[in-house]
Amino acid sequence: MKKYKSAIILFAVFEAIAVSLWLSTGSLFYLRYFSYIGCTLGIGLALSAAGWKYAREFVQFCVGSYMLVFLGLICKENMQIEGFWYYLFSGVLGAGVLHYAIAKIFGPLLFGRGWCGYACWTAMILDLLPHKKPANPRKNIGWIRYVMFGLSLALVVLLMCLGKANKTNMFYLFVAGNVVYYVVGIVLALVLKDNRAFCKYICPITVFLKPMSYYSVLRVKCDESKCIQCGKCLEVCPMEVEVNNNARNRKNATECILCQKCKKACPVKALK
Ligand code: SF4
Ligand code: SF4
Ligand code: SF4
Repeated sequence: MKKYKSAIILFAVFEAIAVSLWLSTGSLFYLRYFSYIGCTLGIGLALSAAGWKYAREFVQFCVGSYMLVFLGLICKENMQIEGFWYYLFSGVLGAGVLHYAIAKIFGPLLFGRGWCGYACWTAMILDLLPHKKPANPRKNIGWIRYVMFGLSLALVVLLMCLGKANKTNMFYLFVAGNVVYYVVGIVLALVLKDNRAFCKYICPITVFLKPMSYYSVLRVKCDESKCIQCGKCLEVCPMEVEVNNNARNRKNATECILCQKCKKACPVKALK
């Protein structure tokens, strides 16, 4: 039972948030949203504690498909970055703003890029592709993310200036944006032989995620006194994090998606 303690605590924390927000706002949305996420994360953590190899992928699919299919396609909420700008500039605390604030702006101070490893609906598909470890050295084209960030902002401002920013158009933008992301993400993964190439070079959300996750409370720590420098953790890392260096400013520190592959690969349990 002891090994499932973290799973139970995580579920209880999310349930407490769900009930508090439901009671304070009167909106069932919060109860449903946080209960579902807490339940899925709790089950995933329990499966991981029980040694199931695909626990992370299970969580990523449950959370990602809920966001994409239920909130995005059925409830017609634009959960992409354009939806965030739209609700923010409209002064509405919609699902898009709430989602960004928790998962991508302030939450990463606590759980780093957990969103990228356990919830993102773009990565849930990209992770199925064959190149789980990058085949080639990282390219110096990360600046594209800033261009994408600026374009997403400019697009929403333009729609607002033209008086075309409404829920219907934002829904069409959500569908079109996702199609583009999947196509670009899959092509890039296959061409560069790296499933996570889209995350490394294109995704505009990393403009929020990277600086905030630098200060993350939750991070993979290395006991360098135990490390035998075998390099196995570096071989399996999909994000090329220099995880056998414990410093916060280690190479690609803000890329870690907390997938735990390095921990499983370490023969001397130097990573915690
Ligand atoms: S970097 Fe972007 S696409 Fe990749 S997992 Fe994170 S949010 Fe998703
Ligand atoms: S393998 Fe380790 S360092 Fe690399 S992304 Fe996963 S958890 Fe982070
Ligand atoms: S796998 Fe463990 S021992 Fe090997 S380099 Fe990484 S942290 Fe050090």
